[in-house]
Amino acid sequence: MLIVQKYGGSSVGSVERIQSVAQRVLKTAQDHQVVVVVSAMGKTTDQLVSLAQQISATPNRREMDMLLSTGEQVSIALLSMALQELGQPAISLTGAQVGIVTEAEHTRARILSIETQRMERHLNQGQVVVVAGFQGVSSQDDLEITTLGRGGSDTSAVALAAALKADVCEIYTDVPGILTTDPRLVPNAQLMAEITCDEMLELASLGAKVLHPRAVEIARNYGVSLVVRSSWTDDPGTKVIAPKPQPRPLEGLELARPVDGVEFDTNQAAVSLLRIPDRPGIAAKLFGGIAVQNLDVDLIIQSIHEGNSNDITFTVERDYFTKAIAVADALLPALGKPNHSDLGNAEVTGDDTPIAKVSIVGAGMIGRPKVASQMFNTLAEAGINIQMISTSEVKVSCVIAAEDCQQAVTALCQSFEISSDCKITSNFELEKPPVDPSLPPVRGVALDIKQARLAIRHIPDRPGMAAKIFSILADHNISVDMIIQSQRCHQINGILARDIAFTVAQGDADEAEKILTQASSELGYSEIIVNKSIAKVSVVGSGMIHHPGVAAKMFEALANRNINILMIATSEIKISCLVDEDQGVEALKAVHEIFELSGDKTFIVPERAPVA
Ligand code: ASP
Ligand code: MG
Repeated sequence: MLIVQKYGGSSVGSVERIQSVAQRVLKTAQDHQVVVVVSAMGKTTDQLVSLAQQISATPNRREMDMLLSTGEQVSIALLSMALQELGQPAISLTGAQVGIVTEAEHTRARILSIETQRMERHLNQGQVVVVAGFQGVSSQDDLEITTLGRGGSDTSAVALAAALKADVCEIYTDVPGILTTDPRLVPNAQLMAEITCDEMLELASLGAKVLHPRAVEIARNYGVSLVVRSSWTDDPGTKVIAPKPQPRPLEGLELARPVDGVEFDTNQAAVSLLRIPDRPGIAAKLFGGIAVQNLDVDLIIQSIHEGNSNDITFTVERDYFTKAIAVADALLPALGKPNHSDLGNAEVTGDDTPIAKVSIVGAGMIGRPKVASQMFNTLAEAGINIQMISTSEVKVSCVIAAEDCQQAVTALCQSFEISSDCKITSNFELEKPPVDPSLPPVRGVALDIKQARLAIRHIPDRPGMAAKIFSILADHNISVDMIIQSQRCHQINGILARDIAFTVAQGDADEAEKILTQASSELGYSEIIVNKSIAKVSVVGSGMIHHPGVAAKMFEALANRNINILMIATSEIKISCLVDEDQGVEALKAVHEIFELSGDKTFIVPERAPVA
């Protein structure tokens, strides 16, 4: 059996710690072949960054790599010595010596391929191979040293495991594993025994401190068995479960297709509630009522409010359409009126012209703003109008007319190079997986307070508008997180218009506003509204697919604390709500509690937050 173990900076933070890591490696090496990946000792990388900054505010990126890669070189040498001292043959290797080939992008290189010959030779000679994490080499000719970006040694470890076809990859860190939420905000967060890669990726903002999302992406794509556990105990930690992988070449390891599946569902119908009051508790009442009827809701979209009113749109299976309309109608009087008489009355509209949901799925879209815009562009080029959009970390879903579905799927498969041996899934072909009753509907909860929301009002309702907006942002390298376009159409000067809202990192908000303002004549919208004081609270869990009422429960938790929901977007395994930034932590606590994720033990956060 071949095991890859990775030890983070705090696990090798001192000579004593390196010696205890050596003990642990030794134990494993008695029955197995072991490749060890280590980070730089303690805060070494931070200190090196600060040295560079004392010399230059904008240090040359090539020289940064030269500098930062030295940290790992110290720890591999020391760990090898410690192993040898214990009588265990070991050899340290830099990324270049192994042959970890990356793109030439200094300070943020992606791994292209990994030579396994040299490592295998040493392993077969009974040596433990100790590899420097976080680094590679740009090509076999230049031997330019590159680094993968901060936190990148997790990615090195999982990539090595994929290349070596290791039986398991163990990530050792100073926390016991992945927790249900951030323990600094919710001290009775609990350890999860397991989580799927998809869930982990959807929880990227929660999990990124413990496990680099790119590492999860590789594990998911290559089916690496991954576990995250504490280097101080023998506790089992958290298993990160990969699906059965599609066969993929190891060439272009991290550059492989960012999208690896296209899904469609033509069995949906949309129900909209227009001009309902914008205040806490409304979504809770509505979806509470729907849950009581046991209707499985798929997409839920709430766009930005207008005055004191709001629209909420959701989709259900077609067979439930009439029932869903009836439930919504019956609830309407209970929702009350917005106190703006000129807004007219709330109403329920259901369009029974058939719609389809098409989605692109893939771990590789995280941090690559071009992916979503490529989807919108592809649909635009095919002349297909997008009625609704909802996104999550690893999925973009668009609702379109059902008659366009076949054409949309064909165009998307072509554009993202999804061939028939890859994943094209439709609701008809796909038997829903059996409900595993032990699966919790919600696995974890995340809070992101570093986002800002932009709303673009009254964009002409015609093919290509979303494509334009998100291409402009992507061209400026601005990553968009949550995108929603809801169903309501306004009549503006005789043309139909819709609103699109999305979130970006707070630091990108001004730039995004500026470039979209510059494009205003081309886009033809009426205004852009920016709100920087928002927080995003998300619940994630594969079990929610078959549990009606998860959304209702989340909304109820917020309503109980009188927290207003500013925007809603969903995917199959994730529900995200925007709330006021000031209420973010309270919202997180309320949601964590209502799903009974809290344990009776209080989690003590190690004094050094695990960044490296
Ligand atoms: N030492 C590098 C960093 O601090 C890589 C790592 O530890 O994952 O970012
Ligand atoms: Mg780390």
